[in-house]
Amino acid sequence: MLTIAIQNKGRLNEDTISLMKDAGISASASHRKLISDAKGFPLHVLYLRDDDIPQAVAMGVADIGIVGLNEVLEKEQDVDVRMNLGFGACRLSLAVPKSVDYPGLSWFEGKRVATSYPVILRNFFDENNIHAFVHEIAGSVEVAPAVGMADAIFDIVSSGGTLIQNGLREEDVVIRSEAVLISNPTIGEEKEEELAKLMFRFQSIIESRGMKYVLFNLPKEKVEEAVSILPGMKSPTILSLADPDWVSLHVVIHEDILWEKIEQLKSIGAADILVLALENVIK
Ligand code: ATP
Ligand code: MG
Repeated sequence: MLTIAIQNKGRLNEDTISLMKDAGISASASHRKLISDAKGFPLHVLYLRDDDIPQAVAMGVADIGIVGLNEVLEKEQDVDVRMNLGFGACRLSLAVPKSVDYPGLSWFEGKRVATSYPVILRNFFDENNIHAFVHEIAGSVEVAPAVGMADAIFDIVSSGGTLIQNGLREEDVVIRSEAVLISNPTIGEEKEEELAKLMFRFQSIIESRGMKYVLFNLPKEKVEEAVSILPGMKSPTILSLADPDWVSLHVVIHEDILWEKIEQLKSIGAADILVLALENVIK
């Protein structure tokens, strides 16, 4: 049976539990547990701090894990990144005090930079041939310049609000991160087969998120025009109606382009448009 390591609390915990739930796997969200068995899929669930997940997977304490790509890159443990999970998006950026007239990366030469991600930052400076002092700080990195501990920072940014509050300006995005599924590189054939089933479920859920199922009626002579408007997964399903001049079309559309497509369809005569939530797309 596979053992999965997930964050015990914090930003990734809730989205991890809900991805598993949507995939038919119920795991306790309990923050006090260390290990429990999931229902709906043969899985042990190990609850850890996110910092410890790459190592737990590399050591084989867990076979797989869900953690931010930032932690995977920082810890440099021997794990395979198997898939992106579509939540926990953030970026790791260099930020400088807003009074600085920033000429580009060369500004960092000889500067002191505070961060909780020293490995990623040193690798980045090495690649860019910048000689800077990397100061590792466990928390509240963004206050380091104000208290004189550093000239600049390298930290996680999602909206950028925290930087602005601390008088800092984001200058260079070094990596973009999201939650990923990682695996131990040597879990063996049997566990690989179980993992393939789990990844298939996750993939279906991720692909169907944000998709809507749209049904509408259309004069038959407009079908070709409608097909050219619609992206669809393949081509839309076309069903005949009692009235021979009309047909019913069914199609899956991403919510980002839903309203734009509905307006275009209405303009060619679409009527009785129904938009339904889509639970799962199984290919
Ligand atoms: P732990 O107690 O498990 O060590 P933590 O405090 O290190 O937790 P969280 O703040 O819960 O970590 O963040 C977990 C992950 O969520 C981050 O490593 C990152 O991948 C992702 N994330 C997404 N947006 C943000 C954000 N705005 N700030 C911090 N992390 C974010
Ligand atoms: Mg952590």
